[in-house]
Amino acid sequence: MINETHDPNLKSWIESANAADTDFPIQNLPFCVFTRACTYENVRVGVAVGDFILDVYACYECCLFDDESFNIAVSADNYCLDHSVMKKNKNLQAAFRRRLVEILSETADEETRKNVRRNLIPVDEVQFYLPAHIGDYTDFYCSIFHATNVGSMFRPDNPLLPNYKYVPIGYHGRASSIVISGTEIVRPKGQNRADENAPPQYIPAKNLDYEMEVGFFVGNGNELGEPVSIEDAEDHIFGLCLVNDWSARDVQAWEYQPLGPFLAKNFATSISPFVVTMEALAPFRVPAFERAEGDPQPLDYLSSDASEKTGGFDITLEVYLQTEKMRDANAEPFLLSRSNMKDLYWTIGQMLTHHASNGCNLQTGDLMATGTVSGNAKDARGCLLELTWRGTEPIQLPNGETRRFLEDGDEVIMKGFCEREGFRRIGFGTCRGVILPAA
Ligand code: MN
Repeated sequence: MINETHDPNLKSWIESANAADTDFPIQNLPFCVFTRACTYENVRVGVAVGDFILDVYACYECCLFDDESFNIAVSADNYCLDHSVMKKNKNLQAAFRRRLVEILSETADEETRKNVRRNLIPVDEVQFYLPAHIGDYTDFYCSIFHATNVGSMFRPDNPLLPNYKYVPIGYHGRASSIVISGTEIVRPKGQNRADENAPPQYIPAKNLDYEMEVGFFVGNGNELGEPVSIEDAEDHIFGLCLVNDWSARDVQAWEYQPLGPFLAKNFATSISPFVVTMEALAPFRVPAFERAEGDPQPLDYLSSDASEKTGGFDITLEVYLQTEKMRDANAEPFLLSRSNMKDLYWTIGQMLTHHASNGCNLQTGDLMATGTVSGNAKDARGCLLELTWRGTEPIQLPNGETRRFLEDGDEVIMKGFCEREGFRRIGFGTCRGVILPAA
């Protein structure tokens, strides 16, 4: 799957795409949906390159696409990824990527550059929208470190339930409250039963948290009643983004039994604007998580050679916090954690196959998320619940403030990137959100 579009020596005539620290070199080319800020234009399908967004349909109108990639470019007229690129087969997607690299690389002729330049919009002049109409959203729980930590807080004698090593655990989330990065998050109200001797109260959530997750979009779906084999799973995955599964822990603790997360989770989920394609991620594949000796092997329907050898992804995930005081003082956001997607117990292929294994039909544009990505190390814990051990070990911030959970005015900023010797670094952009007081 690694080809000439991953060549680390490829350079763009767009200088910002060659910067060492850019998330969007020519080897990445993630998709997004945007408008030019302060215009009444329709939303457009775009591709991020350096500090710019390329308007795909406008490029098609300038005749920049050849026959092979035309098919995707013209469908970009449909203003969202689920009605355009996500549905197309992987060969068309690959052809489109090759053509983008051609028109953006330093070998492009002056005429091509002129036409592309007309359709490049500086990233700070655009507003992003959800990249797809997300019909359904499912959140998994695939970090064994996260599951063990959380389990040991809520059920000290029985942290990891016996199904964990057999089933990629998940729950059906809520699609309607998925919001694009930058959307302000209003602190939810909910039932809190802090005093075990009194009835619960309906009050603003006190233990508001984030969860650092990776999302993946379903490209082609499957018919109702027709499972997806583990061998075919990745044919159904279009690309990845960052996800913040905002969580009200006090609400969660009271409501989660016996049916699992509900109002503690569905008030908001933020996602990053950029969808990094599976092809762009090819150089950063790693073997699936190595199971401890004595752990069961995945059941046959969740097991394949490819899944075991290349089903994981080496994606570094960082969470930063900037409080209102820090923002007012122009202080840099504070790094709370750094974890890696390769530490997940289950691969995204296994998650997708499991989801469809009972015949459940997945549809183009559906979003699935991995669950909090935590590692073994203390500073690799992907939520405050774990980092502060349910609030018992507050975090000290450089300006003297402390945090158990999120306060009003706090901004959570998530980043993701891939680095590997011999390849160009690529990134996911950011997923951010500021907490507003309860209404
Ligand atoms: Mn979650």
